Amino acid sequence: MITTNLAGIGMTSQRTRSRLIQRLRDKGIVENSVLSVMEKLPRHIFIDEALSHRAYEDTSLPIGMGQTISQPYIVARMTELLVMSGKMTNVLEVGTGCGYQTSVLAGVSKWVYTIERIQPLQKQAIDRFKLLNLHNVNYRHGDGYLGWEEEAPFDAIIVTAAPDQVPQPLIDQLAIGGRMVIPVTVANGDQQLHLLEKTEEGITSMQVEEVKFVPLVGGTIG
Ligand code: SAM
Repeated sequence: MITTNLAGIGMTSQRTRSRLIQRLRDKGIVENSVLSVMEKLPRHIFIDEALSHRAYEDTSLPIGMGQTISQPYIVARMTELLVMSGKMTNVLEVGTGCGYQTSVLAGVSKWVYTIERIQPLQKQAIDRFKLLNLHNVNYRHGDGYLGWEEEAPFDAIIVTAAPDQVPQPLIDQLAIGGRMVIPVTVANGDQQLHLLEKTEEGITSMQVEEVKFVPLVGGTIG
């Protein structure tokens, strides 16, 4: 739950936020629990002040170190795909970045586990979780390709950087009945968002739509 007093971190008008939420509805987002968290979340605190006037545009923006904050539509779409199809008790995110997607997940999940490979970005994200009083977010500096074995299995896994193939450790760490949303780079360099489900019989996979993410990279920085 987001309990921050927004007065302390700069206000954006309710109308600006509501306009973004309406745009997401117009683009087909239907899950009210996700939209309601995004309507309360101050996106401008996740980006550099010089770009804050663009915080409520439905677009991705640079956050430094060659990385980006995801487009609000994509954040909403990936989150609703997980929320609509099942349990959100233990949720793993690979690619914390600025922490915006993490904070949305925190509003619709019991526990969030998030991994980032670039430590300076992770440190800034942690400051934002504190500012927002998010007490259900656990973070790790590491290579998310490997997942977070000690906390597995996960009901839901979201990957916000694109590998060439779905990492096997993440498949292994998904609970039976669990879902994963993940962008995967295909042969021509395009990326497809996949929704995977794990059943007793195995894994089913469905392509959702074309997306554009930074690549999932091995190793850590910082
Ligand atoms: N979730 C973010 C948001 O809220 O907007 C967007 C994340 S950004 C598009 C992708 C992030 O994934 C970057 O911060 C990048 O450093 C991170 N990343 C890339 N490869 C990774 C890996 N193997 N393990 C953990 N993080 C990784």
